[in-house]
Amino acid sequence: MNTPHPFRYISISLQRYMLRASLIAISVMPVLPANAIDINFDYRFDTQGMFSDPTRRAALEAAATVYDRFTDNLLAINPDAQNTWSLSINRPDGGGNVTLNNLNVNAQSITVFVGGWGFHPSVLGWAGAGNITNVSGSIAWQQTIQARGQLGALDPNPTDYGVWGGAITFNKNVDWHFDLNTDPAENQQDFLTTAMHEIGHILGFGEAASWGQHIQGDAENGYTFHGQNSLDLIGHPIALDRYGSHWAEGTYSVIDGNLQETAMDPSTPRGQRQWMTDLDYAGFADIGWEIPEPTVAFVFMSCSLLLLGRHRSTNTNSTIETGDLS
Ligand SMILES: [Zn+2]
Repeated sequence: MNTPHPFRYISISLQRYMLRASLIAISVMPVLPANAIDINFDYRFDTQGMFSDPTRRAALEAAATVYDRFTDNLLAINPDAQNTWSLSINRPDGGGNVTLNNLNVNAQSITVFVGGWGFHPSVLGWAGAGNITNVSGSIAWQQTIQARGQLGALDPNPTDYGVWGGAITFNKNVDWHFDLNTDPAENQQDFLTTAMHEIGHILGFGEAASWGQHIQGDAENGYTFHGQNSLDLIGHPIALDRYGSHWAEGTYSVIDGNLQETAMDPSTPRGQRQWMTDLDYAGFADIGWEIPEPTVAFVFMSCSLLLLGRHRSTNTNSTIETGDLS
């Protein structure tokens, strides 16, 4: 889940000409690993028109590119007469639960149903992988449904994660900023930032059994995260939110040496675009995702997008949200 940020936030202003130069460079440089995972959005339940505007779909696609660094080999889910399955998801248009029978999911691909409806503005959106309600067929088929071929995902103490996909619901009542080439206004929520965060939950952040393996503590005294990649990066256990499903509110890390609040803490400031920090990626690696060191081209793109993300007015006047921040 992603919520509006409860705090004022000051970031760095940069010159427009730098941004223009960076964007031109992005457009001519191929950056995808050969075997990148593919996040495939499905709009069949977008009955309230959250994504009827192509600009909005473009922002969603841009959020998915953050995960292009993940290079796991995900097995295809191709049901047939002998191998069948059903799942139940929470419709992203607020229409309640729906059962899907024998969904096809391509190799390397994850299917994410998206849509929106209007609810209380203290919540920007949420995500879930639904419930697999029936699997019938060979042992190999059942394992593919549950783990997509990820070794260790079905161990008693899981070390990896493979998922068919999920559903993301966005709040239509929020004043979203969808444009990729401009900064969000000081009172707007950046859609790309929230979409990136919610896709992260679909990929198991705060949700996967292999994430839970690394949590210590309890609700009363607080949870900490002990995944090895994260420990190696930070040097000590990382505090989590009270559900153990995000980094603690206000956890910071770096992108190419620049400090930024983590993308996978519970809330997002108005007027600001965030990207995945080193700690966010370390968390995904601890879930079991294979995340090679970025190529030179990818580093360049990340840096360029960071410049874009950090350029905004310093005259922010966000109001403090109260309520549940998780
Ligand atoms: Zn969240």
